Amino acid sequence: MRLVDGSRVCLADLNHQVLFRERDLGKPKAAIAERRLKEINPFVTVESYGEVLSQHNVFRLAANCHVLIDASNNAETGFLLNLAAAKQHIPLVHARVWAMTGLLTTFWPGRGPCLACALLETPSNSRPTLIAPLPGIMGALQALEVMRILGGLGPALLGRVLIFKGDQFKFTEKTIRSYPLCPVCTA
Ligand SMILES: [Zn+2]
Repeated sequence: MRLVDGSRVCLADLNHQVLFRERDLGKPKAAIAERRLKEINPFVTVESYGEVLSQHNVFRLAANCHVLIDASNNAETGFLLNLAAAKQHIPLVHARVWAMTGLLTTFWPGRGPCLACALLETPSNSRPTLIAPLPGIMGALQALEVMRILGGLGPALLGRVLIFKGDQFKFTEKTIRSYPLCPVCTA
């Protein structure tokens, strides 16, 4: 597992990011997450990189990966990972959360739509409060999808967006398709 995060643990992370503790405040997230995962499972291989993902490092950091996981909740980072997934022809399992809504899908340039094909609902600029359990709910589903892919079952969410509305306690979904003129996955 390769973790990439250039930020440091802040107080707001503690209500929804279960790998961090109060004593980790101000410390680099990637290194702390690596240490905590190794405490949970000493047999896991984890590499952490305290770098901000950019067009200059994304292809190096994604090299030799089998699946890319976008848990950044950041549109720019998502599009960088989408470029790397397209270049390597590997799946990108993408989740995002805002307020009471979570969204999860798998992009696989060449086999299905990519992030640039999909016109996904995006959060408003008002940045409403993120409800603490939501990243855990969507993160667990995201991990299950990644395990399906790595285990050979294949993605459940290729071409499907799973949407969880926490205010209604409802899962819905919508279909997305490859865009024939997409500049990323037709390149
Ligand atoms: Zn595309």
